[in-house]
Amino acid sequence: MTETAERHEFGAEVGRLLDLVVHALYSEREIFLRELVANAADAVDRRRFEALTDASLMLPAEAKVRVVPDKAARTLTISDPGTGMSKAELTQHLGTIARSGTLAFAKSLADAPAADKPNLIGQFGVGFYSAFMVAERVEVTSRRVGTEEAWLWASEGRGDYTLAPAERAEAGTDIVLHMKADAEEFLEPMRLQTIIRKWADHITIPITVTQDGV
Ligand code: ADP
Ligand code: MG
Repeated sequence: MTETAERHEFGAEVGRLLDLVVHALYSEREIFLRELVANAADAVDRRRFEALTDASLMLPAEAKVRVVPDKAARTLTISDPGTGMSKAELTQHLGTIARSGTLAFAKSLADAPAADKPNLIGQFGVGFYSAFMVAERVEVTSRRVGTEEAWLWASEGRGDYTLAPAERAEAGTDIVLHMKADAEEFLEPMRLQTIIRKWADHITIPITVTQDGV
């Protein structure tokens, strides 16, 4: 962590909900990728929409969501050229649970009979925090379209997260997952392709899986 990083506490319920999601979904961990790719595609759609009234925000040609496993570093990166998030948006959207699909999911999960719980996973967006099922640390570098500044949001999924100034050449977002030791299967390109085919079939923006340095 750099000296300029600010430490922030998560909103009150985040810790409890994180626990719930991470444990309730253990056998369905692969859906973290559905959630992060869906968020990336949503951000691209929102940028397209914003560009309708401000041509300077237009997407670059051949916009795509990139999924990049790096076995040596044990990281999985999901990058998109979408709207990106400002510092305030990072705080609001990733620092409080209220904005997250996780909340709706957790409520239904608590109320559902045990036999129905697996079905709920398909019905609900589980949200950004599902990344912590597979990652011991999540780093989000984001630059809001139309601005010059980028910010790094980082968390180990416990009580707090940090925010620090960062660099990003273009608008958009990189989510870097530092994978847990027992989640290395999600660094296999074939495995990632299979998950994307299963869950992200309806997403119209191209999604590529490429190994770093290849
Ligand atoms: P939901 O997608 O249901 O709103 P999530 O937990 O998946 O809940 O995401 C929370 C919010 O964080 C999103 O609504 C969005 O505003 C923001 N967000 C997450 N990922 C990205 C991204 N890649 N680019 C821009 N904004 C994002
Ligand atoms: Mg989402």
